[in-house]
This record gives sequence, structure tokens and C-alpha cells, in this order.
Amino acid sequence: MIPLHQPFISGNEIKYIEEVIKSRNLSGNGKFTNLCHQFLQQEFNFDYVKLTDSCTAALDMVSILLNISPGDEVIVPSYTYITSANPFVLKGAKIVYADSLSDNPNIDPAQLPKLFTEKTKVIVVMHYGGIACEMDEIMEIANSHNIYVVEDAAHSLGATYKNRFLGSIGHFGAFSFHTTKNVTSGHGGLLVINDEQFYERAEIIWEKGTNRKMFLDGEVNKYEWYDVGLSFYPSEITAAFLWAQLQNLLMINAERLKSWDYYYEVLKNIPQIKLLEVKDYSLHNAHLFCLKTPNREKRNILICELKNNGIMATFHYLPLHLSPYAKTENTIKLKEAEDWADSLVRIPLYYDIRTEDQDFIIQKIKSIVQNW
Ligand SMILES: *Cc1c(COP(=O)(O)O)cnc(C)c1O
Repeated sequence: MIPLHQPFISGNEIKYIEEVIKSRNLSGNGKFTNLCHQFLQQEFNFDYVKLTDSCTAALDMVSILLNISPGDEVIVPSYTYITSANPFVLKGAKIVYADSLSDNPNIDPAQLPKLFTEKTKVIVVMHYGGIACEMDEIMEIANSHNIYVVEDAAHSLGATYKNRFLGSIGHFGAFSFHTTKNVTSGHGGLLVINDEQFYERAEIIWEKGTNRKMFLDGEVNKYEWYDVGLSFYPSEITAAFLWAQLQNLLMINAERLKSWDYYYEVLKNIPQIKLLEVKDYSLHNAHLFCLKTPNREKRNILICELKNNGIMATFHYLPLHLSPYAKTENTIKLKEAEDWADSLVRIPLYYDIRTEDQDFIIQKIKSIVQNW
């Protein structure tokens, strides 16, 4: 079976983990965490970064930093991963679901003003497949209403919007190093903060609500319970693994882009399927390759027949507003999100996918859709 995705392995992971073991400094916030932080700040112009155990945890930090509480409303695209909503739900917020665009699954900024109430505190956007949302429009609307913007950039490390790295445009950016992402530590995440007022408190929340940083910096002679917080940072073992990956990130993204373009140049000419629109100012990172089929029935046929030929293909998100958890309160119709859920198919893409496998996949897609 040709897999849908496969993690990149650099070969240095074990070497760095061995170094951690020899140092006997296992717990976290050490040499490898710092190496990752420095790299991420320099390479992507992120001002303030903190590794976390997951993207979910990074968003959880955001929900604490913003003091999300019952009564607050958070706008979340329906077509996204559960994690974009869950940390806010856990703090008692009401989720207001937003629809997608018709030419890609990203949030449609035009409907935002209709979704605002005086309780709206946050808009979460998710850059699907590393293809940027319309950030100028979103930031302008949000700023004019004093609403915070959180970028769920789980797919998007290294991708840009008008020459700015995704994750650095909203007030917060959250990334994932889950095994399905372009670089991974198995589980892992990153919080980027782009608004200075949150830096100091973030240090405390990151370290279980203590002022341990001030203690380590010699500013106080003991460290104490200062604020709420959780154990957000990964162990040095995880950071060492991640460092071995991050060192190769630019090369990984470049290779993935070659494979992405290879698919795109051929598949764009098949009239029975549609590909996502990528605007000139959006340089993506080839996180995934997907295509749009005419409807759910044809989508199922394509997935099934690809599987019969040893090719793993799948649909993607189910609309959050129709999920068993949300449904009790929500009977709204979000046409585009529901349409993406019904019609989108992802096909294999990973760092070392072979050209002959891509040729085989392209040929099979062509022959399956010919009968539509
Ligand atoms: C992978 C993913 C996440 C979750 O990441 P974790 O690191 O597993 O918490 C969140 N949002 C989106 C859009 C994702 O694709």
C-alpha cells in the first residue's frame, strides 16, 4: 500500500537523544529546546516562541492567556480539526462556527461581520494545507472590533502570506509536530506570540504557573506559585528529536513542493476534478495534496478504487457544527464546509514519495474519473 503520509527521519534523532541521556538533563527547557527556539525565531521571524507538547496544548495556553471564560464567544471554522475549538470550549466559551470559501476550505472572511456579537473575543483561522487564509481582510475586521486572531497553523510551518510567515500575523500562532506534519517529534507543538503584552505571563503559564524563569535568571531567590498554569513544555528527549528534524525543514519543504507541483501540473488538466486555488501571494509548504470530487458518492468511489489499487487516499475533516458534541445546539447549514467534507480527497504526499508511485497514482485517478 502506498501510504497517505510517512514521517521524515533524518538519522540524527538517536544521536541527539543519546546526547540528552548522557547529559542526564532530561526534563525539558534545556539545550535542545533552546536550539529549536532559536532556529524558529531566526528562520521565520517569530518574536516569541515556546515549544509545547502539542498544537492542542499551544492553543490551550492561548485560551489561558486570553482569560477565556463562560460567556465569551469564539469564532472557529467548521472545516477544521477539533483542536481549533476544544481549548476554548474547555474554558466555557461558546463556539460560533464559520463557513469555508468555495475555492479552498479556508474561512470565508466576508461572513465574519455577521457572526460578531459584543461577546466575540477570538477568531480562530486555520490555513488548510499551508495555504494562507485572507489574513489582511481578517486582521482588518478583527482589529476594528478589538477581537484577537489565533492562527491554527498546524499545517503551515514555513508557508507565507504576502512574504510574512504564517503564525506571525495574528496575535497568536499554533503549530503541530504531530507525526502527520512536515516535521515531527511524534507529538509536539509550538506557540508563537506576536503581541508583547502576553510574553511575561506566557513564561509563567508555560512553567506550571510558577516564576521559575525569574528564578533561573537570578531575579528572585526562590520560585513560587504565581498564576494558573500547566506543564506545557516537552522533555529534552522530544526537543532533541525535533531538532534533528528542524535542521532539515527547509529541504523537506522544498522536496515536498516538488512532489506537490508534479501532481498539480498533471491533475489540474482533468476536468472531472478540481484542485485548490492557491493565490500568487500564498507560498504554501506542500503539507498535503487534495482534490475536489463532484459529490460524496464519487468521492467514495475514488477512495475505494484507489485503495483497491494499493493507494491510500482519504477524505478529511467532518464539519464541527454537525458533530455529535456540537449538534445539540447547532442546526445551522454551512454549505461550503459541508461540501468540502463530502467532496475532498487527499492523496499520498510525503518527503520521499517516489516519482513512479506518483505516476501510478495519477494514472489510476485518470482512469477512475474517466467513467464519471
Ligand atoms: C494536526 C492538527 C492539530 C493538532 O495537533 P496536535 O499537535 O496533535 O495537537 C490541530 N489543528 C490542525 C488543523 C491539525 O491539522
